[in-house]
Order: sequence, then structure tokens, then C-alpha cells
Amino acid sequence: MTYTLIYNGTLIDGTGGMPIPNAVILIKDNQIIDIGTEDSIYLPEKEVKRIDANDMFILPGFIDTHVHIMANGFKLEDTMYNPLSFYFYRATENLRDTINAGVTTIRDAGLADIGVKKAVEEDLIVGPRMLISVMPLSISGGHFDRYLNSGFDMRETYPGLPESICDGKQEVRKRVREILRAGADFIKVMVTGGVMSVNDGPDETQFTIEELKVMVEEGKFRNDTKVMAHGHGAEGIKNALKVGVYSIEHGTYIDDEAIQMMVDQETYLVPTCVVIKYNKKYAEAGELPEYSRKQAIEIVDIHEKNIRKAYEAGVRIVMGTDCGVVPHGLNLEELRFLCDIGMSPEEAIMAGTKHAAECLGMDDKIGTIEKGKFADIIISKKDPIAYIKSLGNPDNIVMVIKEGKIIKNLTN
Ligand SMILES: [Zn+2]
Repeated sequence: MTYTLIYNGTLIDGTGGMPIPNAVILIKDNQIIDIGTEDSIYLPEKEVKRIDANDMFILPGFIDTHVHIMANGFKLEDTMYNPLSFYFYRATENLRDTINAGVTTIRDAGLADIGVKKAVEEDLIVGPRMLISVMPLSISGGHFDRYLNSGFDMRETYPGLPESICDGKQEVRKRVREILRAGADFIKVMVTGGVMSVNDGPDETQFTIEELKVMVEEGKFRNDTKVMAHGHGAEGIKNALKVGVYSIEHGTYIDDEAIQMMVDQETYLVPTCVVIKYNKKYAEAGELPEYSRKQAIEIVDIHEKNIRKAYEAGVRIVMGTDCGVVPHGLNLEELRFLCDIGMSPEEAIMAGTKHAAECLGMDDKIGTIEKGKFADIIISKKDPIAYIKSLGNPDNIVMVIKEGKIIKNLTN
């Protein structure tokens, strides 16, 4: 049994309540067992490891609901040059960059297999807790079909990573079953084209309502596995909403009707502002492939305007970044972008903690600093309520604790 006491910091517990100065948090093994002030907490007689928070700010570990931990950029030609094993070694770095940025849980939106998740769970490698979607579903010629019109086949599959492409109800059902067999916690589907696509544009509609219905139904049969839908164009998004998908990722061209449906159905929106903003930067610097440059620049203002509308209408928005398409470790930059669309710093923090935990169905275990939850805790050098932007710089995250274990420590 190990006891750890964090003291002398201001607690922002993720519930949206007022910050608590001079807070003390008592951890037993991997769990938070008490919170209060030093004289109000009963300290065990056993030895207690003490962590001085040095007047800094204590927050829950953040949750990024949209990451691609196996990806570093989205260059198709990489699959020609990189041996398969290289991706896994590189992913260990990506996982470390992510947790060092203050993210203790991720939902991988495609390409991470169950072996990566298992390696983290068994402490072979350091990283955030993972939920995975294994391989996104795409139609032929859709956002995740990397079979080029030159005839080159850049698609990636290997044992444990099933094929992405499926057309028609029969194939869709089989693919969903294969992905669930491969260990998916979520079913990811591309219901529109994408910015970084070879074969399509972001506003194209992909999959029919009938096909989408099969995914949702099959997920329900199987342990109520939820469907997360990559969607930019309004029609594709609405098709997904009509069959009751659980979350919409990106949401660029979302219209009033779709927003209303999301409010009514309590669908989550993961706006991934980080990838939208950074892609524009890279496009302007000529760093994106030619086929995606124009649209990467075009969508930025439209995206911001529409996400703000969704926020104002009361859509449930949670933090997700698409890191992997852009560099890992930028994750908490999302918080300031959420403030740009109208959230207060407190709300943005909740979008990345409490509400993100709800989106993952894990709010009984993570997302806030409360008794009985996993001790996923970070310490920030700067006051995130006064300077929300400061959280986006990993240097300001001086400590990261995951399930009671210190992963990063810059305090001494
Ligand atoms: Zn993505």
C-alpha cells in the first residue's frame, strides 16, 4: 500500500466549482481517497509520500477524445518508406509526448491496434490510458481509401489492423464485426470526405443511411459500442445523426438543422480545432500535399463560425484535437481555441476533463479530482483560469500523475 499526499496547491477539480486554495489530496495506490485541507484530512500512520505543489495549480489529467497515436503527419508516401515496426517505436515517443502534455487518457480515432493499448496497460511503455477504434470505416474512394487513382495502393493493413473499405450493408456489417473482434472500444466511420484526402473533398457525403444504420445497430448488439463519425459536410453529418451516432468529429459545415438534432439527441461534438488551425498554418507554409492545401485554408473561418453556433445552441462539446495529423503534445492548445468560440476557461477545462470523461463513458473513474476516482492529476505552473493558453505549452505542466504513478516531474 502506498500513500501519496499532494499539498500546497490550488485545486481546480474539473467539476466547474470554485478553485480551492491550499488543497490537499490524499492518494492510496492508484485512487484518490480524500480531499480537503491538511488538518481536515485523516493521515494514515503509515509512511506517506509528500508532493509539494509549490503554490501551483492542481487539475485532473486531461482527456483527448480524438488522437491518432500511430500517425506523424498524414503523408501517404510514408507507408512506402517506413517499415511496419518503425511505426510502433515512433508511437512510444508519441505516447510520451501526449502524457507529458498533461493528457492521461486518449480515444484513438484510428490506426492504433490493441497491442499498443495492451503495452500501455501492462506498463511496457509510458502513455495515456487508451480507448481505440482500430480502423475507421470508409467507402471505396472515401476519406480513408488510400488506393490512389494512379493505381498505387497505399492502404495499410496487417494482422490486428483490419481493412477499412466497405461498401453495401453486407460488407459494412462484416467490417464492423472484424473491427470489434480486433478490440475496438468505439466504431469510427468517415461519413464525409476529408481535408487530407486524396480522392475526395470535405463536404462530400459518404455511406448511405442504410449502411450507417448497420454500424449503429451492430454496435448496439455488441456491448453497446458507440459510433464516432468523422464529418465535415452537413448532409453526411445529418445522415449520421439520423441513425443516432454518438459523436460527430470536426463538424465544419454543420448547419442549423444538424445543430438542432445534436441538441435534441445529446450528441457529442468534437471540433478538433487544433488540427483545423494548424493545418492552415502548414498549408500556407506549403507543407501540406497539394491536394489538401486549398481546402485546409478555406475551412478555418467556416469551422470557427459554425462551431461557435453549435456551442451557443447548447451542443455538448468536448476536447479532441486530431493530434497525429498535427504534432503530438499540442493537445491542450485545444482549450484556448474552445475559449475563442465562446467558452469560459472553466468550461474549456470541463470540456477536456469531466465532459470528455462522460463522452467516453468513464466518468465514474476519471475526469475530475474526486474521492474514489483514479489519481490522474497534473500540476500546472500557471493559473489556467487566468491564462488558459498556458496549458497548451507542455513546459508549464510540471507534474503528471497517472493512476497514482508519477510520470513527469519537473518540480525539483
Ligand atoms: Zn482524425
